[in-house]
Formats: sequence, structure tokens, C-alpha cells
Amino acid sequence: MQINNHRAKATVLMRKAVKFSLHQYPVPKLRIRTRNLDFMIIDSHQHFWQVGRFEYPWMSPELGVLYRDHLPAHLEPVLNQCGVAKTVLVQASNSLAETHWLLSLAENYSFIAAVVGWVDLADAGIEQELEVMTANPKFKGVRHLVESEPADDWLVQPKVLRGLGALAGYGVSYDLLVHTHHLKHARTVAESCPDLRLVVDHMAKPPIKSGEINEWAQELKALAAAPNVYCKLSGLVTEANLTSWRLEDLRPYVERALEYFGPARIMFGSDWPVCLLAASYDQLLESFDLLLVGLSETERSGVFGGNATEFYRLHPAATTVEHQADGNHHAGQAAHPGTPVRSRF
Ligand SMILES: [Zn+2]
Repeated sequence: MQINNHRAKATVLMRKAVKFSLHQYPVPKLRIRTRNLDFMIIDSHQHFWQVGRFEYPWMSPELGVLYRDHLPAHLEPVLNQCGVAKTVLVQASNSLAETHWLLSLAENYSFIAAVVGWVDLADAGIEQELEVMTANPKFKGVRHLVESEPADDWLVQPKVLRGLGALAGYGVSYDLLVHTHHLKHARTVAESCPDLRLVVDHMAKPPIKSGEINEWAQELKALAAAPNVYCKLSGLVTEANLTSWRLEDLRPYVERALEYFGPARIMFGSDWPVCLLAASYDQLLESFDLLLVGLSETERSGVFGGNATEFYRLHPAATTVEHQADGNHHAGQAAHPGTPVRSRF
């Protein structure tokens, strides 16, 4: 009976989701006050999904605003209003079919500069899958929903490590969706695959709500010692108190990440639409702008676009040259971190 009730509730919410229309998205009326962001802004992390289309293990009706379709037509006007030129679209389901769908969206919407999709890292035939995926120039990275795996050490199984090594051979990066207790395993990955470009999503979800910082900071610092690991400044507001977070709640965590990775290995990401649980897109962008106001113009242009361009190789001509010059290139040696990217597309 409980299951039936749950289903009935889900059906009601799904009907509501269908009715959800564009005007309900908080589109800022004026260009936001990001006075310091006078260069091309690239959002390194956002999602699209359709309820019921693929298996989303994290999705439930209790998630409110997230339990509805979120599609390019919803985000595009928000990006335009906020002055964000490009995005990196990240998977939300461990599914090849979802990845093909995300790539089809990227073909139809030029603001999607890259797709971080999914392949089965444990599959001995991963190379064949990567051949297929990398034929699409917008396929730039892979992610697996590691946080949904029951085993903390999922990433360091020999077959998964082999799969991660294969990504590096195809010039594909890997997004680490991990929490504090996974970070020591992420370190093993970084050391086992020194040629693989890795990025920690959402700063590994620090416990902002409780205010604890030490264990998270210690583990993140150890991981940041590996030069092939970057870090996304994203997802933080949803780790804080959703309704009463303040800029000062985020600051100590952002300062630690900046200290450990340096501004050349940090990239802004909205985590839209997940951020909507706690903040609108423009609120989020303005918050990060204010938190990073102490950085130089070059450093800010890196965090808000240049670093993502380097990491995801969003400029094919530049990365081809770089590859020829240095077959051993990896993320920690990015040639021009923080270079303004206005003219690079
Ligand atoms: Zn996300």
C-alpha cells in the first residue's frame, strides 16, 4: 500500500511538472551586478533531465523543484541574462542512452560547449565505447555516480582503475562525484593514472551546514597535491542551510580550496538546476563573484572560464597544438590557466 501511495504522489507531482513553465524560472530582469566578470563566463557544471526518461538513482518526489523536467529552453534565457556564454553539461544517470541524449542536446544548443557523459568504467570493452563517444567532438569527459555506490572504494577496484586509465588514452577527463570519505580513494586514482585529468565536483561536498571543516580539509589538501586534479567551485549552497545560508558560511571552505588547488585549478560551476534548492542562478554567480573578489583579473578569468576551457579542452585548435608539443600533457601543466577566453571560441 505504501508503494501505491508513493506512486500516486509521484503521479500528482509529475502532472505538476508538466504544467511547470518557463516563466516560473527565476530569470533576472537586469544583467546581474557581476562587475568583476568582464570576460567570457563558462559554467563548468550544469544538468538537464526529464523525469522518468532515464534511471536517476538520486531522484525522488521529496526533492521538490528538482522533481520536474529541466531542459535547455529553461536555462538558456537565464544564461543570457547572467552573461554566461557556455556550459559544460554533466550526466545525471549511469546510462549510455542518457549520454547520447545529452550529446543530441549539445548539437542543438550551441551554449553547451561540452558533455561529461557516462561509460561503464568496469567494462573490459570500454575502449570500443570510447571510440564511439569520442567521435562526437562535444564528448569531453566521463562521470560515474560514485556517491550512489554502496562501496566507498568503488573507484579503486582493479577493473575500474583500468577503465579510468583508458580515459586518459582517449584524452577524456573524469569528474569525481565524491564526498570526504571517498577522497583517499580519489587520491589513489590520481596517483595510479597520472595522465588522467581529474576534477572534484562540488569541492567534495563539504559539511557546510554543520560547520565542520577539519577532516574534509585534510583529505582535500592531500588530494590537491596531485597536479592532475582540479576542483569545481560548485554545489556549495546545497551543502549549507538551504533557506538561511549566507556568504560567510561558504567562505572558509572556498578559501581552503583556493589555498590547496590555487586559482589556476579551480573552476566555477552553477550545478543548475540543483542550486535552485537554495539559490537562483544570478544569486549564485554573484556570490562566487564576491567570494573571489580578492583574486587578480587574470585569476578570476581563469576561475570563471579559462580553467574550464583548458581542463575540458573546449578549444580544439589550441589543444591539438598543445598535444603535438607535449604528448605527456596533463592538467597540472595547463599552458595558459586564467587566460581571458573571449576570443578563443
Ligand atoms: Zn551536479
